[in-house]
Amino acid sequence: MPIARRTRSPLHGFAERALALLYPPTCVLCGAPGEAGRDLCAGCADDLPLIGAHCARCAQPFSISGTGMGRLCGRCQQAPPPFACCTAAFRYEEPLSSLVIDIKFRSKMNVIRLLGELLADALSAASERPDWQPPAAIVPVPLHPRRLRTRGYNQALELARVVERRLDIPVNHRCCRRTRATQAQTTLNQRLRLINLRDAFEVIGPLPRHLAILDDVVTTGATVSELTQVLQRGGCEQVDIWTLARTL
Ligand SMILES: [Zn+2]
Ligand SMILES: [Zn+2]
Repeated sequence: MPIARRTRSPLHGFAERALALLYPPTCVLCGAPGEAGRDLCAGCADDLPLIGAHCARCAQPFSISGTGMGRLCGRCQQAPPPFACCTAAFRYEEPLSSLVIDIKFRSKMNVIRLLGELLADALSAASERPDWQPPAAIVPVPLHPRRLRTRGYNQALELARVVERRLDIPVNHRCCRRTRATQAQTTLNQRLRLINLRDAFEVIGPLPRHLAILDDVVTTGATVSELTQVLQRGGCEQVDIWTLARTL
């Protein structure tokens, strides 16, 4: 499937610089001047809950500090998820969780840009690992068309656009779609989440061998696991998960 690549024109760079002069970067958390051209100050950047010690497979943060890196959580030891590896930038805790609500329900595009950059930072760091293999494309978790109409945008796709520019890995948001408008997962337990997601996605194009699914937050992993299995049935051999935040 052809993948649309974005090229940056000189005019685009000029417009960005002009906007930066008109609207200087301002911290989205405290209102102080932003650092390094971003809407975040150094103090608030230090307050963000970095992922820390976590399961090497599903990125579930370990609650006991000092638990060794490279270890698996109990669930991954007993029943490993279908995806190869989950990379998460943060724990889903304040103040990051407020920013995620801003991008999900308050249409704050400057916050999406900032969180996309922070996720790209984490992925750039992960790409330094010797076992890192870049996927052929990034697949944002699709929204159902009805929810897309209500919200006006898919926050996972918008985050993926920022990561695409930074990592030079194309977004492919047309290879699969959401076929059912599922109930919000937050109100359901793990078993009901899986039932809720049954047949929720379908592949609509040929898939490369290796993909990364991008979602804003991974909670139980039910959504990304279901989409992984759908992509695997569609011919993809390796699916990684990239997410901004992982819940405890
Ligand atoms: Zn600040
Ligand atoms: Zn795990």
